Amino acid sequence: MKINCDLCGKTMESLAKAIIEGVQLDVCTECAKFGKVIAIKRPSAKEQVKQIAKQQEREEKIELLVENYAEIIKKKREEIGLTQKEFANRINEKESTIHNIETGALDPPLNLAKKLENVLGIKLIEEYEESHETSKGRRINGFTLGDFINVKK
Ligand SMILES: [Zn+2]
Repeated sequence: MKINCDLCGKTMESLAKAIIEGVQLDVCTECAKFGKVIAIKRPSAKEQVKQIAKQQEREEKIELLVENYAEIIKKKREEIGLTQKEFANRINEKESTIHNIETGALDPPLNLAKKLENVLGIKLIEEYEESHETSKGRRINGFTLGDFINVKK
């Protein structure tokens, strides 16, 4: 298929729809720079823009208990040489709470898990951060499609 640029008449493989001085034209990427590009007949470029938008989703930080928290707590408590009751008293929790946590019957709420981390010097919470490099994404997304063509050239 042969396509000619409405402005310069050059034959090319991919062309852009652009509004130049109020008129919608099919132009080559070279001429598109002079107008407002409204569509690019190049699906890959479109997809990339979509991906960038996706990357802009805000960062999420997820805190999760490690799977073997019960084991870690029990082991550490025994290392220190405290009974469940003594340990519970020391951190102002109920003995049953400690018992249930150590048997895995109770997932400690995050604030208690953090307390246990501090008191015992262990790691119970893992943070998962989903970074989308937002600053980078924002910058690229700020480009106009015309800029995009320039970059690709
Ligand atoms: Zn042209």
